[in-house]
Amino acid sequence: MNQATDPKLLTPTVPYWINGQRTDATSARSGEVTNPATGAVIRRVAFANAKDIDTAVAAAKAAFPAWRATPPLRRARVMQKFLALMQANLDELARLASQEHGKTVADAVGSVTRGIEVIEFACGIPHLQKGEHSENVGTDVDCHTLRQPLGVCVGITPFNFPAMVPLWMFPVAIATGNTFILKPSEKVPSCSMRMAELFKEAGLPDGVFNVVHGDKEAVDALITHKDVKAVSFVGSTPIAQYIYETCAKTGKRVQALGGAKNHAVVLPDADLDFAADALVGAGYGSAGERCMAISVVVAVGGVGDALIAKVKEKALKIQVGPGDKPGVEMGPLVSRAHQAKVKAYIDAGEKAGATLVMDGRKTVVPGYEGGFYVGTTLFDGVKPGMSIYDEEIFGPVLSVVRVDALEDAIKLVNDCPFANGTAVFTASGGAARKFETEIEVGMVGVNVPIPVPMAFFSFGGWKSSIFGDYSVHGMDGVRFYTRPKVVTTRWTTTETGPRLNMPTLG
Ligand code: NAD
Repeated sequence: MNQATDPKLLTPTVPYWINGQRTDATSARSGEVTNPATGAVIRRVAFANAKDIDTAVAAAKAAFPAWRATPPLRRARVMQKFLALMQANLDELARLASQEHGKTVADAVGSVTRGIEVIEFACGIPHLQKGEHSENVGTDVDCHTLRQPLGVCVGITPFNFPAMVPLWMFPVAIATGNTFILKPSEKVPSCSMRMAELFKEAGLPDGVFNVVHGDKEAVDALITHKDVKAVSFVGSTPIAQYIYETCAKTGKRVQALGGAKNHAVVLPDADLDFAADALVGAGYGSAGERCMAISVVVAVGGVGDALIAKVKEKALKIQVGPGDKPGVEMGPLVSRAHQAKVKAYIDAGEKAGATLVMDGRKTVVPGYEGGFYVGTTLFDGVKPGMSIYDEEIFGPVLSVVRVDALEDAIKLVNDCPFANGTAVFTASGGAARKFETEIEVGMVGVNVPIPVPMAFFSFGGWKSSIFGDYSVHGMDGVRFYTRPKVVTTRWTTTETGPRLNMPTLG
């Protein structure tokens, strides 16, 4: 137990973390943080104004020169201590994520673990940030490259992974020598505060990592601040596009990851039990609130009836309830407003003529009647043009679309503007290869329903699931948070006289 989890010590309003300490807001605005399992307000969170953002940026700017000058190996040693502390406090972080988000503790343990793997990646920064050297690019002339940090970097993150998505960003940014300001989702502020405490305990100098909270006002102050050099964003597509455009106008480096509508294509030769297990896990895990959740099943050939029967049988057994209760497999949605939105999509799907095979609208968890639950929901006969197909629902709603052949499935997926992840289930190497080659999606699974790349690869979709040229973590992360510099050197001065022509080797 510590300050972040002990109810007796709970700060009534979650403050910021600036310059290595909890810092109160000057802003009078704040928001409610709820426990989605019960619907109760458990704490409040400060909402930053431009003055608060100025304070955070000034701290990060002041910390930059010394941190940037710290040898990468020393930075890596701080990361190693942070890694050990994060591993030791994994359970507490997972419980905080579950409490504010609603997902099960076991699922939260998995997602925090995937975030911690980015710290493991960042521990290799002395190697990852190395430049290149070429001797004698011209007579007596050598050339080498440097990868230098940018300065103050900002991360703005969504509610659905309170620890993992921030961890996609700040370990790589800080390991490469930048300082960082995190603005986590105002719905789930506590994991970020705990990670900041642990990072300080690991020996991170004050001001290198800062956390502020808030809504659009805080975000706008961050993305238009003159001293902010780069912005990483993960969230919904309209906000991602807004962040991208605003940053581009002021010349900031920006990567903005957006929403998703992920299709799983099931071919007639697939192992249907295996595929149904995968679809149930990927469709209903975390109540469908994952950017890599499967929300559309594309049943190819005659596979639809048998597949739907298997998915239904497995999905009906899922235990719905509070995320910290043993045996519960699926928790509530994040907020009452989101619960109402998901239910409205189910109404709309029914009205549009899709067949409702399983209806989660009436799900009530005894003893938790105030919680934001929606049960597992399955539609058949879904078509493009229906809002349940065209839009991101972000809830436990699976839509089955039936098509005749693999070519039709590929066309369907490629016509979708979202392009985060997709998967194919098949026993045919040829079909899988065709899918992998022709599909226009950033992350592809072959018999893997949620193909989230490991930390040493990069994570990012295509089309309206990303704005910007770099994905997060892996080498794209290192490239995003550093600027290349190319240095050409000559130490002999035997040649004399000006040369006005373009130098060449001759
Ligand atoms: P969101 O876009 O509502 O919020 C994301 C962040 O933006 C939050 O920090 C929020 O405070 C801020 N924000 C919200 N409205 C804003 C506005 N008008 N102006 C400026 N900032 C604003 O997203 P969310 O509901 O927190 O998260 C769910 C979304 O995130 C889904 O669309 C999901 O697909 C997406 N997501 C994508 C990925 C990915 O890797 N592509 C990963 C996780 C989540």
